[in-house]
Amino acid sequence: MKVHILLGPPGSGKGTQAKRLVQKFKLNHLSTGDILRDAVSQGTEIGLKAKAIMASGKLVDDDTVNGLVFARLQQGFEGDVLFDGYPRTLQQAEALGEFLSTQQIGLGFVVNVAVPDGVLEARVVGRRVCSNNACGAIYHVESKPPKQDGICDLCGSPLKHRSDDTAEAFRSRMVEFNATFQPILGFYGRQTHFRSVDGNRPPEQVFEFLVQLFSENA
Ligand SMILES: [Zn+2]
Repeated sequence: MKVHILLGPPGSGKGTQAKRLVQKFKLNHLSTGDILRDAVSQGTEIGLKAKAIMASGKLVDDDTVNGLVFARLQQGFEGDVLFDGYPRTLQQAEALGEFLSTQQIGLGFVVNVAVPDGVLEARVVGRRVCSNNACGAIYHVESKPPKQDGICDLCGSPLKHRSDDTAEAFRSRMVEFNATFQPILGFYGRQTHFRSVDGNRPPEQVFEFLVQLFSENA
């Protein structure tokens, strides 16, 4: 068993790439949300602790998140693991590194799907979503326009521009995101198995690069 990590800002397409890698290489796709749900349903000590923290309306702290992840890794897996959305802070990244070396679990690839902020902003600001929640189709004014302006191709409902898809909302999210993300990149950037992939390309090309990288590290 090896652990692989895919990093990238929201909107980088990282989630889609992760799903495809998981299918192609039969990986165990691990998100902290899933681990948390499992631990809560199994009623483990750390799961109950996390549940109590969430019930009080607080964010689950790094030590608890790490505890959940490490407990799950210790249960073992058939095949490799791909983390999605973890580690989320420098503290989590450092603790994971220590855990893996004490448990003699190998770190496979750590890849950042890099996309310039300006490109991410254009993706977000041009996004239009179908106002019919049951449909939920997503369009983009430039890269995926509907056939008729402002109308959903699939169900004919009007399209809307969500309030979190404005440039201002995007920029404030990125400031917050980068405050924790840049230290993580700095941490992994000093390690030999770290690679950055240009995410500002067609998804198929990004995937080909990841497949090649993964095959080398498998
Ligand atoms: Zn629709």
